[in-house]
Formats: sequence, structure tokens, C-alpha cells
Amino acid sequence: MSLTIQNPILMPGANLIGAEWSAAADGRTLNVCDPATDEVFAIVPDSGAADARHAVDVAHAAFATWKKVPAKQRAQIVKRWNDLVVAHVEDLGRLISREQGKPLAEGKGEVMYAASYIEWFAEEATRADGDVIAAPVPGRRMFALREPVGVIAAITPWNFPAAMIARKIAPALAAGCTVVCKPAEDTPLTSLALVKLAEQAGVPPGVLNIVTASRERAAEVVDVWLDDPRVRKMTFTGSTPVGKHLARRSADTLKKLSLELGGNAPFIVFDDADLDAAVEGLMAAKFRNGGQTCVCPNRIFVQDKVHDAFVEKLAARVSALVVAPATDSAAQIGPMINARAVDKIERHVNDAVSRGARVVAGGKRIKSDRCPGPNYYAPTVLVDVDATMECSCEETFGPVAPVTRFSTEAEVVATANATPFGLAAYFYSNDVKRIWRLADALESGIVGINEGAIAAEAAPFGGIKDSGYGREGSRYGLEEYMHIKYVCQGQLD
Ligand code: ADP
Repeated sequence: MSLTIQNPILMPGANLIGAEWSAAADGRTLNVCDPATDEVFAIVPDSGAADARHAVDVAHAAFATWKKVPAKQRAQIVKRWNDLVVAHVEDLGRLISREQGKPLAEGKGEVMYAASYIEWFAEEATRADGDVIAAPVPGRRMFALREPVGVIAAITPWNFPAAMIARKIAPALAAGCTVVCKPAEDTPLTSLALVKLAEQAGVPPGVLNIVTASRERAAEVVDVWLDDPRVRKMTFTGSTPVGKHLARRSADTLKKLSLELGGNAPFIVFDDADLDAAVEGLMAAKFRNGGQTCVCPNRIFVQDKVHDAFVEKLAARVSALVVAPATDSAAQIGPMINARAVDKIERHVNDAVSRGARVVAGGKRIKSDRCPGPNYYAPTVLVDVDATMECSCEETFGPVAPVTRFSTEAEVVATANATPFGLAAYFYSNDVKRIWRLADALESGIVGINEGAIAAEAAPFGGIKDSGYGREGSRYGLEEYMHIKYVCQGQLD
């Protein structure tokens, strides 16, 4: 199966600043590697401070006119962007799978998922109404008006190269903001293709700007945006340490921030659960994208009575997963994104085993004729895992399911909440009273009850505690890009 792009226009290989597709000001370049082989297959700009500043200059100038474009017209442009993304699902899916490694069915699935956010925010744009407030004194009319915040900076990760861009840029455009954006260094191509399609959809020059940069230069670009008072909001998805750095450094300009950071999701299976549904839910939540999602279950707790039966079913399913490059039509798990990712997975598994965990599926790197590259890891199930092990404390971000046995509801709730993170939590139970006790007790921004696939464009996505703040998707997602202006007119009597 080939991942060759049919429409070369989708690979501009350049930054977009204003109306110009251009190289980095100092001409530096960044190699894009295929995670299946580690071979370089594309080159994009390695941008620096000058490019970052230029992008803000242009976005700031464009804001003066874009904010005045009627919401209905902005909505039509964003809707056209959605239509173009859907029309290019095959090429965009290939691009995602090529640079990120996920199986092609998942790559194309991500394109449609990204499009669902673009369409959602196109529709929401026309509903960003304000309020008329009942005046507490005579002779006054009082209003709450919604306004776009201004230039926004979007920083995205590599695990969902299309969806993360869509979820940040579509609401910004819909709200009337202009954008400067830096995608992750591992996966810049999908973002450039999406921006190319936005340009074709009629997003005016300067409204949407993108610069690509290496990991070494990411901070140089982003620090310019953090320090610039014209950038009024930053939206970031990535690791908690970088998120905290952004929060600290944006204090001087008091930017609005949305931070979607790391997770450490518990997945709890009670005695009274439908075990087959729980295994199914775990397979969907844990092994999608090779376990490289921030809402992946990272700690699996199974109650005594069903523990052994659950582990047996899970190990059978996990052992049967097909690991292969995205070019293989049978692939269910692709390569991990890079060597750093595989090293972390290996470290977590080795640490758990050295402290008494047992491997009941996988547990090693894969190197074979089918998977010749260096970035493959076998889907793994660990049992007898405890809270001291590295895999319980940090996100593994790979295809590893660590299982811990528990006895009581009180004990498992306390353990599930004993983490600084609070993004997603899942549990399986058929006891209606327990269901609502747990939904209230779990400290996380998202709770899946008897459901492993929770994300949807209409739902608010985001965390609490060290998983960050702000919500993406849903009607709450648009509010992040607007502020409220109170207007009071007096002397009316
Ligand atoms: P991960 O470990 O999953 O790659 P990161 O938080 O390191 O997560 O990366 C997420 C995004 O943040 C990427 O676009 C990356 O380039 C960017 N990034 C990484 N380090 C910094 C930094 N010091 N300042 C600003 N952005 C950064």
C-alpha cells in the first residue's frame, strides 16, 4: 500500500506568513523522518525568532479587518475549509500516516475527526451571541458583547497532527481571531497541508500564519510569541513541563491560556461490569494510535473477582494485534513516533518487571522483516503492577496496559485520584448508584462510563490539576477565543 501523495500542492514545504509561502529567514531547514524507517522524506523550514516576529506583525495587521468580517461570512469560509479537508481525506490520511506512523485507516479516521471540529466551529461562529442585561436602574440599556481576543498562538503536538490544528484554529477563525501557529517538529507536513487548504477555502492573507521549527528552535519561536503583548492568547497541547513554562512566561503579558497537558488516566473495572464490553472499551481507549494519546488509560484497576478472567481476555486480544508499518493494510499498531518514545516505553516496562510486575503479553521491542525500523514495540500487558512503578506515575505513551488488582470501591477511588494529573478517567460498572458516586468522585476533566471512545466535537475536552485548563470542542471551546465586553448606555429617560 502506498502512502504517496497524489496532489503535490498539499506539500508546500514552506512557512505561510501573510500571502507568502517562504523559507526560514536564515534559510535553515528541518528534516522530516518517516517513523517506520527513520529515513528523511521531506524538508521544511527550521524557523527562528525573526520568522516568529514577522508572523505576529502580519497577524496583528490582519486582525483589524478579519474581526469586522460578519460571523456568517467567516462561517462560510471555515465551512469551505471543512469541505476541502473532507475532499482530500485520502491524501491527508496518507500524510498523517507517513509522518506520524499510525495505520492508514486511523490516519483517514483522524482527517474526518479533524473535519468534524472544523464543521462544528463553522456552525458555532454564527451563534456567538451576547446578552441584553436587565438594567437595575432607570434610563439605562446594558449589553454583554462577545469580541474576538486578537492574535492567538497555537502550539501543537505530534500525536494527532490534523485534529490538534483543527481544534485550535477552527474556533479561532470562527471567533474572528487571527492565528500564528507552530506544529510539532515530528509532524509539520499535515499542518502545512491543512493551512494550504484553508488558504484555498478563502481565509484571507495574514489571518492564518504557520511556521515550522525543530525541537531545538521551538522555544526561540514560542518565546517571541510569549513575550509579545499583541499575542492575546496561547493555546497549547503537549507536556506538563512545557505547559507550566508557557504559563510562567506569559504572566508578564497576561495572556489568556488554554493548556491541554499530560494525563495519567485510570480505567477501573468493577465486579459488576460487563467484562467483554470493558475489554472492548480498553482496546479502543488504550491501543488507538499505538497508545500515544493523552486520554489513553495509563493505569488499569480490576476488582478481585473478575481480575483473572479480565486479564485472560485482555492478553488474548492484545497478543493478536498486528504490528506493522502504515503501508501494510493489516496494521493495527504502527511504529512509535521516534527513538525517544520507544526508550521511554522500554524503561517503564523494565522498571515494572524489576519491581515485581509480570509480562503476560508483549514486553519487548520488535525488529522483523515486517517491522524493519527501530521504533516498534510489542503491545504489552503487565500484571501485579503497583503505584510505585514508573508506569503508574508517568504517562507511558505507548501500547502498554499495566493492570493492578483492587478490592474495594473506596480504595480504588483513592488510588485513581492519587496523581497530580486529571485529564480522563474511565470505569465499567452496571450499578447505577455506584456509577454516579464514581462520576462525582473521580478528579478529572473527562469521565467515560462504560465507554472507551469519549472524544467528540460537541463535547468539552480538557483537564484539571496538572493536566491543564481550558476546554476544546463544544460551545465552551469557542468561548476560549472571545472576551466579553460590557457596554452601558445611560441618559435614556
Ligand atoms: P512531547 O514530549 O509530547 O513532544 P512537548 O510538550 O515537548 O511534548 O511538545 C509539544 C509542543 O511543544 C511541540 O510543538 C514542541 O515543539 C513544543 N515545545 C517543546 N519544547 C518547547 C519549549 N521549551 N517552548 C515552547 N514550545 C516547546
